[in-house]
Amino acid sequence: MLTLLKLLKDGKFHSGQDLGVALGISRSAVWKQLQLLQAELNLPIHKVRGRGYQLAAPLSLLDVTQIQGGYWPVQVLDSVDSTNAEALRRVDDGCQAPFLLLAERQTAGRGRRGRKWVSPYGENLYYSLVLRIEGGMRQLEGLSLVVGLAVMRALREMGIPQAGLKWPNDVLVERRKLAGILLELVGDPADVCHVVVGVGINVNMQATEEVDQQWTSMRLESGHMVDRNALVTLLNARLHEYFDRHRRDGFAALQGEWEQSHLWQNRPVTLVAGANQIQGVVLGIDAQGALRLQVDGQERVYSGGELSLRLRDDS
Ligand code: ATP
Repeated sequence: MLTLLKLLKDGKFHSGQDLGVALGISRSAVWKQLQLLQAELNLPIHKVRGRGYQLAAPLSLLDVTQIQGGYWPVQVLDSVDSTNAEALRRVDDGCQAPFLLLAERQTAGRGRRGRKWVSPYGENLYYSLVLRIEGGMRQLEGLSLVVGLAVMRALREMGIPQAGLKWPNDVLVERRKLAGILLELVGDPADVCHVVVGVGINVNMQATEEVDQQWTSMRLESGHMVDRNALVTLLNARLHEYFDRHRRDGFAALQGEWEQSHLWQNRPVTLVAGANQIQGVVLGIDAQGALRLQVDGQERVYSGGELSLRLRDDS
């Protein structure tokens, strides 16, 4: 089935006869495989009499041989529940970090607090990098914001100059979500631990009814299809560079750069903390990456994984 997909990925018409010859199977076997492709991977395929079959949109499939930079070993999975969940299982099984897992789709992609990350086949990036961290709370300080910065830089370099950050680590274009980041930690943060750096980027996705907030993709913003292997190569390079700077100089050295890229700097916001809502104006972040808000005329500092920032409707 995947060989067939590779033949169709250019989005052009291919006759049933040609596909059958290329795969060494009959035309009716081709037809069966096409139906499987549609049903299993939810990929619409057009059939036109006299011309053959065509994917509704071309695909840029992942290919390890086209991903450059040898910072960490890379493996591409076809389908997985969640790249983060699989990475955690592999850490548990004793796999040596660093390593990177990519998948063409996730059947149970996850966001923060158990929320779902929509992950259709072949369109976006589902990226989980596992790092081993030794003896360093300092190395964890602000780490998820550092990842946001590296992702944003890669996106800007790939032709989305309007990409910016929302505390703690979403990447947006205006109010539309382009990428999400989920860091998960196992082990003892004060001694040896592993961090799974999960990054979901909407790359070539053009439509979905499943995302329940404003979203966008690189393709929608730039108007053209993006080579996902080139994006992985660049993302690897930027993450490697920012992790290095973070390890060497600490988060404080990146604080200014982060604030400059914060789309909601000086904006009136609501900070949602469980059932509590705090109204304030964003002042920036501190040297550990915590949010600084002006609340009732005073500066207050907030941090923790349970916090969500919302722009106030009147802003
Ligand atoms: P925050 O709590 O920081 O405001 P969030 O509410 O956006 O973030 P996340 O955990 O970062 O939550 O992401 C999960 C949410 O993102 C989902 O509840 C859904 O609204 C949205 N979402 C799911 N899939 C996608 C996607 N592919 N692209 C953009 N947004 C998505």
